[in-house]
Amino acid sequence: MAFQLSPLPYAYDALEPVIDTMTMQIHHDKHHAAYVNNLNAAIEKHPELGSKSLEALLSDLNAVPEDIRTAVRNHGGGTWNHNLFWQVMAPKAGGEPKGDLAKAIIAAFKDFASFRTEFEKAANTRFGSGWAWLAKKGNGLSILSTANQDNPMSDGMTPLLGLDVWEHAYYLKYQNRRAEYVTNWWNVVNWDEVARRYAAK
Ligand code: MN
Repeated sequence: MAFQLSPLPYAYDALEPVIDTMTMQIHHDKHHAAYVNNLNAAIEKHPELGSKSLEALLSDLNAVPEDIRTAVRNHGGGTWNHNLFWQVMAPKAGGEPKGDLAKAIIAAFKDFASFRTEFEKAANTRFGSGWAWLAKKGNGLSILSTANQDNPMSDGMTPLLGLDVWEHAYYLKYQNRRAEYVTNWWNVVNWDEVARRYAAK
């Protein structure tokens, strides 16, 4: 069965004013949809992969046939990364994590403010297109950034929170002001979902 474009879990305007309606429409209906379509076009060439989950494919890219490996890396990554992105945001969200996730963040980064500073640095210094991540690495947490649609699971980590810093994610509203987008984005982070993912892995 082909991979499906997952629906947005809220209305296009739900994240206003942090992320504007038109950006959400184009980002989900055009960019995300294109990743899904291009992933399916690649997988069609290898029907034996049809039963594999996207996580299985991205976790072991070397096992993907060479002729579609780059397509799966880029478009499979694009599909999965945006699935996560919509889920880890929500209207009337933000604030700080609670419970075990908060303890893990403090253990890894000293306090929430230091975590935030380090994450913002990863997002703002990613040259060109890519993502900033909070990921589970072994028993701890790690902040990193990746280029393009690369995913931390290809390096053995479990992504918990991801921030899209491609220009398509913010340019209509913020133009060249990526740092302002990153700062405002904290107001829509859905920590309950991040905590759920932390507890699940
Ligand atoms: Mn994107």
